[in-house]
Order: sequence, then C-alpha cells, then structure tokens
Amino acid sequence: MNNFDFLNPANLGKDYKGFILLKIEDVPDYKCKSVFLRHKRTGLEVFHLIKNDHENLFAFAFRTAAKDSKGAAHIIEHSVLCGSEKFPLKEPFNTLAGQSISTFLNAMTYPDKTVYPGASLVRSDYFNMFDVYADCVFFPKLTRDTFIQEGHRLEMDSEGKTSIQGVVYNEMKANFTTFYQIANNEMLAAMFPDSYPAFSSGGDPSVIPSLSYEDFLSFHKTFYSPDNCCLFLYGDISTQDQLDFMDEKYMRRLEDKYKCTGDLPYATQSLPYVKPQVKELLQLKKLDKSIFLEKTAPEQGSTGNLAIIAKYTGQANIEKEFLGEVLCGNDSSPLLKAIKDSGLGDMPYTGNFGQFKEEFWVNGIGGVKEGNEKKVFDLINKEIEKIYKKGVSQEDIDSAIMGIDFNLREENRWWGPYSIILMEKALKGWVWGNSCTSLLCPITKFEELKKVLRTDPDYVKKLIKKYFIDPEIECRLIVRPAKSYLEDRFKAEAALVEALDKAADKEQLKKDLDRLHENQARVETPEELACIPHTKIEELEKTVDEPKVQLQTVPGADSSEIPLLISREETNGLFYMDVLFPFDRLSPQYFKHIPFLSNVITNIGWEGKKWDECISESACIMGDVWGRILTGSVYDVAECKELAKKFEKYNFCGRKWLGVSCKALTDRAEESLDLLARIITKMDFKDKGRLKNLIQEQRASKKAGLVNNGRELAYKRCTATWSEGYALAEILWGVTQLYTVSEYKEKNAGKILKEFEYIYKESLKAGGVIHITADDSSLEKILPLIKDFAKEAGLTKLLPSRNYQLEDYLPYVVQAQNSMGQQTRESLKTDSQTGYATVVARCSPYLTKESAAEQVYTTWLNCHTFWEKFRTTGGCYGASIYPDSGETCLKLSTYRDPAPEKHAEILIDTLKELSDNDFTHDDVEKSIVTCYGAAIEPQTPQDRGKQAFETFLYANNGFRQTKMDKLLAVKDQDVKEAAQRLGQMAGKEWHKVIFCDKSKESYGKNLDLPL
Ligand SMILES: [Zn+2]
Repeated sequence: MNNFDFLNPANLGKDYKGFILLKIEDVPDYKCKSVFLRHKRTGLEVFHLIKNDHENLFAFAFRTAAKDSKGAAHIIEHSVLCGSEKFPLKEPFNTLAGQSISTFLNAMTYPDKTVYPGASLVRSDYFNMFDVYADCVFFPKLTRDTFIQEGHRLEMDSEGKTSIQGVVYNEMKANFTTFYQIANNEMLAAMFPDSYPAFSSGGDPSVIPSLSYEDFLSFHKTFYSPDNCCLFLYGDISTQDQLDFMDEKYMRRLEDKYKCTGDLPYATQSLPYVKPQVKELLQLKKLDKSIFLEKTAPEQGSTGNLAIIAKYTGQANIEKEFLGEVLCGNDSSPLLKAIKDSGLGDMPYTGNFGQFKEEFWVNGIGGVKEGNEKKVFDLINKEIEKIYKKGVSQEDIDSAIMGIDFNLREENRWWGPYSIILMEKALKGWVWGNSCTSLLCPITKFEELKKVLRTDPDYVKKLIKKYFIDPEIECRLIVRPAKSYLEDRFKAEAALVEALDKAADKEQLKKDLDRLHENQARVETPEELACIPHTKIEELEKTVDEPKVQLQTVPGADSSEIPLLISREETNGLFYMDVLFPFDRLSPQYFKHIPFLSNVITNIGWEGKKWDECISESACIMGDVWGRILTGSVYDVAECKELAKKFEKYNFCGRKWLGVSCKALTDRAEESLDLLARIITKMDFKDKGRLKNLIQEQRASKKAGLVNNGRELAYKRCTATWSEGYALAEILWGVTQLYTVSEYKEKNAGKILKEFEYIYKESLKAGGVIHITADDSSLEKILPLIKDFAKEAGLTKLLPSRNYQLEDYLPYVVQAQNSMGQQTRESLKTDSQTGYATVVARCSPYLTKESAAEQVYTTWLNCHTFWEKFRTTGGCYGASIYPDSGETCLKLSTYRDPAPEKHAEILIDTLKELSDNDFTHDDVEKSIVTCYGAAIEPQTPQDRGKQAFETFLYANNGFRQTKMDKLLAVKDQDVKEAAQRLGQMAGKEWHKVIFCDKSKESYGKNLDLPL
C-alpha cells in the first residue's frame, strides 16, 4: 500500500493497515498539522503532530488512576523497563540510555496517566528507542524480583538487621519530607475526597509495603492495554513510516495477546475512547458543601502555618490564566500585593491548580503565626470584594497581556524538547476523552479574549465575579508544621519493619534476597546485550555546531569603547539583553551580599517612584527584567589563556559580574531600552518596608527549598576550598549563603540598603559590557538604538579586576577548615527522610586527550556500575559521576539516598576497584555515542545566546569541535587508562560530604544548617 495521504480529507474514515484516519486538523498556534487515528481491532490510538522538526518524539501514554497510595502506577512505570519479551535484559531502559543519541528518554507517572517518551535527532536511533519502549510497555516480564527490587522488600544486611528497601520506596520518602509537599497533598485530598487526586500516585512509603505482587500484575493488566493507550508522535518522520513500523512489529502480537478478533464497535468514533472502568476511576468527587479543615505537615521548609481558601473553577481555559496574571502576575498585581502587604505571612500561596479536569483556585499565605489564620481568610475575601468593586487598572491588564503574549511566543526547553510541552497539552485532552487538539490553541484563544477585552470594559470584573464571588462552595484549610510529623513517620516505619521482620520466614527471605542479589550482580554478556542495536561511530555526523558571539564596541558615557556582544539566533521577534558590571573590584567581604542584592535591584523601585509603580511599568513594557549574576574563571589551560590574552585590552575575561537582564518584544525595543537605562542609573535604595518584605521572602524560599537543594549544598561544601571559583560559589550559593540569609534582619533594613547601594554603585563605576540575543530583523532595529543606550545607562570603560585568589575568599567561607587538607569528611544535618552523598576527587585538565577518555569512562560508569551499585542494589534514586575538567574536579554523588554515610565511602572505593577493569570495544563505542548525544542536544535560541556569551566571557568559546574530535578519537586503551588514573587519584585526595537526617550518627565534621 503506497503513499496513503494522511492529510487528505478524502481519506477520512479510510484505514491504513488497520489504522482508521479519524481526524485531520490544523494546529496553527504551533505551526503543525495533526492527525488522529485508531487501530480498528486493538483500539490503539495514535495522535501525530506533524511538524518540520528533525527532533522527533514518540510517547506511549496510558490512563492510570490510583484508588489508594500504594504506588502501583509508579512501581509499574519503573518495572516495565526491567526486561521484556524481545529485550530480556535486566534493564533495557538503562542499556538503551547507555548507547543512544537520544535527546530525551524518560518515563513519568502523573496522577492520571503514565507516559513513556523518547526523542532523537537520528532516525535509526529513534526507531531503536521506539522498538524497546513498545515492547517494554506491552510485553514486560514483571518478575517477582523486579517487583521487590523496584517496589519494596524486606532487606537484610550481613548482620541480619532488616529494613525496608526498594527504588520507588526510597524515592518517595523524599516526597514526604517537607512542609509544602504534604500541604499540597492535603489540599488535593480536601478538594477531591476519595477520588484519585486524593491519593499519592507516586506512592506513600507508609502504604507502599502493602502492595502485593498480585495487585502489581493486575494493575498492568487493567491499564496497559492498547485500548487504553495513546501513541503520541511529533516531528517530521512521516505518519506512514511510523505506522508501518507499528504494524510490522507490534500490531499482530497485540491482537494475539489481547485476543482481538473483529473490529471494535467504537472503531470509527472520532473522539478518544475511554474504557468504562477507567472512566469510573477518573471520576472526580467534588465537595458538595463548604468545609473547614485543619491538618499537620513536617516542620522542614516551613516558616509558620499555611492558611488557604480554595474554590473550583471548572475546566481549563485561557480566561483563568489571564485573570491570574491580572490579579497575581507580579508583585505589584492587586491581589498578590495586598497579600504581601498584609504582613500576615512570608509565602504567598496563590494560583489556579490545573492538573485535573476540574480545576481549582487557591488563595492563601504560608508562614502565618498561630492565631492569625482567620485574618488571612478575612483579608482574602475583603480584598477580592474590593478589587471587584473598584475594578483593576489599565496597567494591570496591559502587563497581563504582555506577560501571556510573551510566554506564548517564547519556546522553552525546561527539560527535554519543547515537544514535551505539546505532548502534555495533547494528552491532557486525550485522558479525559476530549480531542487531543482541544488545548493546543492557546494563542488563538488568547486573541479572541483580547477582542472581548477591547469591547467589554467590565470583562475583568465579570471574570472576578465568575471565579471568585459566585462559587459558593469553598474549602478553608489550615496546615500547621508539627515537630513530631517526621518522628512519627520514622516510628511507624520502625514498627512496620519490626512487624514484617517478625512475620518473615527468615530462611525463605534469605533465599529470596540471595537470588535477587545474585541476579543484580550478574553481568550481561555482549551476546545478550546485542538484542538492542546501537548506532556506530562511523554513522555520526562529525561536525558540530557551536553558537558564537560577535564582538563589537559602542561608545560609552565616558566615550570609551564598551564591548557589545551579539548573538544572532532565531528568536521569533523577541530579544534578550544583558548589561553587566564587574563586582570583583570590591573587597571580598561584600561578595556574600551579591545574590540577595541581585534579587533586590529590579524589585525596589527607581527614579523616586514607589516600587509597585515601577514593577507595573516594567511589566507593561517588557516580558521580564531581572537581576543577573555571572561568575566563573578562565581555565588554567594554554588554549583558554591564549584566548583571554587576545582580549586582554578589554578587561572582560574571567570577571565576576552583577547586572540586569531583560527580555522583550522587538516591537517594544525603544521603550524597553529607555526603561532599562533608567533602571540601571536611577535605582533607589530607600524603601525599608519593601526590603523587609523581600528579606522575609528570601528566607522563606531558601528554607522551603533546603532539602531539594541538598545535593547541591553538599557538593559546594566538598569544593569549598578547592579553587577560587568554587570558593566563591560556596559563598554565593552554598551553606555559607544560608548563613548570610539567616543574618539579614528586618530591623537592619536601613543599614543593609546602604551597603547594597555602595556595592551596586561601585560595581557600576567599574565599567560595563552589553550582550544581545536576537534575530536579524530584530537586530536591525535594536543596534542603532544601542549607542544612546550605552550612554544613558552610564556605562564606562571596564577597569581591571583585582584578581583575588583562593586565600582571599577563605575568610568568608563558613568553617572553611572543614574541607582543608587532602582527605576530609563533613556532614550537613537537618530534618529529612532522605539524604545525599557527595564526593570530589581529581581528574585531568580541560581539552586534553585524557579528559575526553575520562568523559567516556564516567559515562560508562553512570550507565553500568553506578546504576547497579547505588540504584538497583543500594536503593538510591540515582547516582552520578562527572568530570568538571575545567576545575580538574571529579564529582560523584548519590541522590535520594537511604544510607549516605555508607555510600559516600563506596563511591570512592568503586573507582579504586575498577582501576583494573577491562572494557570491550562495544562498551567504549556505546559510551562515546552516548556522550555524543549529550553534546549535540539542541538548545533554544535564548539558551544558545546565553551559552555563547558566557563561554566567551571566560575565554572558552570555540572549542566544541576540538572537544568533539577528541571524544570521537578515544580508543579502548584510553578508557582503560582513564579508569586506572581516576582510581589512583581518588586514592590520594578526596572530600566527602553527606546531607542527612539529624538522627544519623556523625560523619566527619558537623556543620549545622541555619534557617
Ligand atoms: Zn520513580
């Protein structure tokens, strides 16, 4: 059957190899066309977003809704990737990850679905992944061993001591550690009592152990059938090629497995079909009258109570997004400002919760003092009433329009390709039985909204009434931090272990565990692994593209030549700009203030106007404006130093920068540049009241993010005295910074402002540099404006750096002595159900042949030994190793780790043990291909500009091809030597830091976490 035209409406209702073409649609907002098909016998649905994009993406999606918190959906998500009929390996997913050029390969459990996406720029690689994922989701082995490895088991150590282990079990512990995680769960449970959002789709560790192997198997059977599956496709591989692939490899097997004999009665239904039993599980139970609830949550991450009011807002639409932007889009927006000004708490908690078919709106505050909750409720209702009566200002409407327009125009790549965002929108419609395109038209919908807005002056008022005033049912919820929350969980876990221990047949248990461990330790042979084909090095495109900047100059306020760096990228009528000044001429005692200062500078007002007027003005003109910090060093290698020398006269290489960045529509370039210049030169440091608020918020947000940031904090402690660059990073972003934040006191606001003003003005006096990322036509408009801008922004010649060394920073690092010496250990302790271990050792310098080989070796480790030792066997959610060759620093860590003190030791031992390891040619080739995949991952235009600019300022731009050549030239022997070298170096110098719960024994030197 040749060339079936899937975009020809005459073919609607016809079938191609059993797939009936049901819908052809234009998706103009994303410049795509789409087709929707159903396989008439199995019910498998296919939605293809056809776009001229080489980065193709596929995703298998299944509706999965929980009726308890045992975590079946999540454990299945992990387990289907542990071996299947055609790929009977221990972990095909991991094997694939260790040899593919994927730009995305993952699996995700949502509350209502489980999704398996993969993306690649290379066709053969794409179909490899497609094949493995298709087999895994439909034909997994799901052995009991897999279940106890990924789910839960009673584990016994060499002394016979028992504990509960399991990858998902340990992973989820981290989700039950902090205040806002639990508060969120409580809110969902309150709004949708006894229906699926009320349960933890990931699993609650206190309930996970009650999931049986039989439950686990039956979950797969219920939900992973083709008639509950949507195959989402995106990109430029033709629909026909993709269906041919499915037809040839899977459709027969699926028909056999699911005993599909004839055409399904709903085969020609043009909307997605939802099986009755799934539909029932996806039913949301809503409140039928208002309620008031009080709950508790862990103390970790809280600064007081949380008090909220929630109201249902119906199905997703752009109206609500718009209303949200008008009322709470930025600090000057009326509702958010009233909440912040009230002084009742430090963590505004507002927004529309859009995860479910029925959405709901939450208004509230966290960090509220006991007894003040009712004041919060009264405030919210009073303010909404007030805004409704008074109406909102034109500025609030204009800034909301600007914010949404900008977001809709900008392509993001938060994690993985942009198509992931489109996939989520399409699947949201699909899960509920709506058209896949129902949420793929936000730009069109927003244009319609703007039309209404122009003709109806009361439109916003009507929206406020519709969503906030008319709905009568509301949920008032107070969540209080309780010291005993985590202690109770620890106790409950201990009791559960004891009970399971008592009930266990120890002999049988030992047998089961021995078998499991033996399986885990078994190394698969090259013949076994060959079932998954891999791309060969000869097939790879050797030339890599590197974003560049162009260096020009522009006369400054002192008539000197100011460096102007230009990135030409396809920005779609938007532009991005940075104006930076060096702060490294100040004394290092001031550096600790840079992070908070950078947050303050665009938030405190300018030209003598009030801060909220200023924020509102900037939000009407620009997409965003924010304080920026950029630090780094010129690497200590000849190539970089030479490049730095070439630019010596400009004084921009290797500097530490503070400044302002913005993004805006090119159509508004003139106003944007004018405003930016005014912000830079006329910033006020006077509003103590505003600063007090910002201090509270800074403290609350650092506190809320503490546990999630645990690994980064531990890494920064490992390298606190490693080099000047790393020491500065510890001061700016590490535990030292937590101390700085804890020392900002509201009563010192005046003093702090004076100090900030001094730092800011001294930095500005030290000169400036400008960077722009934009497309050709935008640049044509902007560049002529830059001359005036440089003068108006008061930019002057860059004065040379004071070139501080490590010793100059050390006095400002908290307990620097803890990481001084060749071998050190330190522990960071807090309340946490989960931990992290981090270790650093030496590696080879940047751009050397050795560093290329070490990159290949560590990639291999990540996909093999590290995965097996720390994840499969050790129960960690993850473990990683990577060489930061610029700093000659090898970084090793575990993630969500049940035993960080033990694993910190094993991390280094592993390197030593493997120093005599032999690598097959296959191993080396696969690891090179994986490194290659990471190196060619596409970037968004703004990221390309950002990266080119940053590498340029540190004399590190233009080496991508060199690095690629060295990578592709790595030989088997080089990898063997890399393993030897890293093993040896790791024996000599190391620093180990763990992040763990207070109850754990001390490990090396202790460092208390403030806040
Ligand atoms: Zn997981």
